[in-house]
Amino acid sequence: MPIQNEQVCAFCGRTSREVEVMISGPKVNICDRCVQASRVIIKRNLQQRKQALIKDFPIPEQIKAQLDQYVIGQELAKRKIAVAVYNHYKRVNTNLIEESVEIDKSNILLIGPTGTGKTLLAETLARFLKVPFAIADATTLTEAGYVGEDVENVLVRLLQAADYDVASAETGIVYIDEIDKIARKETNVSITRDVSGEGVQQSLLKLLEGTNASVPPEGGRKHPEQRLININTRNILFICGGAFEGIRDIIARRIGRNKIGFGAGGFNVNKMTAYELLFRSEPEDLLKYGLIPELIGRLPVLCPMEELDEGALMKIMTEPRNALVKQYTKLLQMESVQLEFERDALKAVVSSAKEKGTGARALRSEMEKLMNDIMFMVPSDKTIEKVIISKGVVTGTRKPKIMRREARKKTA
Ligand code: ADP
Repeated sequence: MPIQNEQVCAFCGRTSREVEVMISGPKVNICDRCVQASRVIIKRNLQQRKQALIKDFPIPEQIKAQLDQYVIGQELAKRKIAVAVYNHYKRVNTNLIEESVEIDKSNILLIGPTGTGKTLLAETLARFLKVPFAIADATTLTEAGYVGEDVENVLVRLLQAADYDVASAETGIVYIDEIDKIARKETNVSITRDVSGEGVQQSLLKLLEGTNASVPPEGGRKHPEQRLININTRNILFICGGAFEGIRDIIARRIGRNKIGFGAGGFNVNKMTAYELLFRSEPEDLLKYGLIPELIGRLPVLCPMEELDEGALMKIMTEPRNALVKQYTKLLQMESVQLEFERDALKAVVSSAKEKGTGARALRSEMEKLMNDIMFMVPSDKTIEKVIISKGVVTGTRKPKIMRREARKKTA
């Protein structure tokens, strides 16, 4: 029986004399035994959730079909990602059930010009995946001790995406953008690289290989006495992406050199498209570019990204579920106004975007420019029924054609 004012564990009823440690809250106490028991229950619970999480995972064809809804072209990259993600689920399941057979990770490296859909692929995956997903930018990462984000902070985002369920985060997928910007400096072809590139590569390597990382739950710099959460990265899939500007020359030089050895025939490097060259990229090209060999070894799936031609840009404007034309049409529809783009107008937007050389990225800014006045005017003029955009509007020689409700009534 507890004596007066003695603390009693609210769970097992033991008094502070009967236990090692009693933890007191504002109105309730818990003993060390019950804390231990809770830990076991929590662990078991998380384990069950992890197992539930990866049931009924999508097969490669389904993953690709999802990607197809948002990403135009990039067939090879979509197929490779679909297989890698599917294998990721299988690996996680296998590693969970039988510890003896361990399937290796096949982390992915997307190589291709800016605005071709690397981040979009990653974001689209995030939308329907059954595992937590996080995106990080390699340029913000630094070696521990330098100004910037610790590499482990990549995992903090994953942990947040998993609602702080560690077991679930440990099976997640991370996309690291701009990986080319942390290439080693000496062999760099660009002048905009991070000085600490190689150190960051070393730190990233540990994560990619599989390590026990300890991260501060709220992110930021680690400091003494801070509570840290341990995350094992063994089962985390990493997708890295980068433009690797200049790598085409490295590949062309290598192919050209090899061709001499093979004598006549083969292919003409000078006539190859950027994609054809990227398609032939090899680990040694990445090494020349400035990635450390160990990191290259941990990114075995190389995916070249195609440069988007005008046909692809046109599709991007009109076809995906979130296509720009669909978005603006919807926005005006919400004001009860119809929006029509003449085919030539869209072609003009595409060729103007193409000139910018930033892939599909320029489409949005071109459309913003085009639509801004209309979007400004429509909410304050309730007589507008329809807006028609012709080529002249895009080239700046005409104004959009506006059809009004009253005008239609009069002519009727
Ligand atoms: P990257 O990461 O390759 O530089 P992004 O994925 O960020 O390029 O592309 C920028 C934007 O351009 C995307 O948000 C998307 O709207 C559009 N976009 C780029 N590539 C594609 C594509 N292949 N299919 C559909 N939209 C695309």
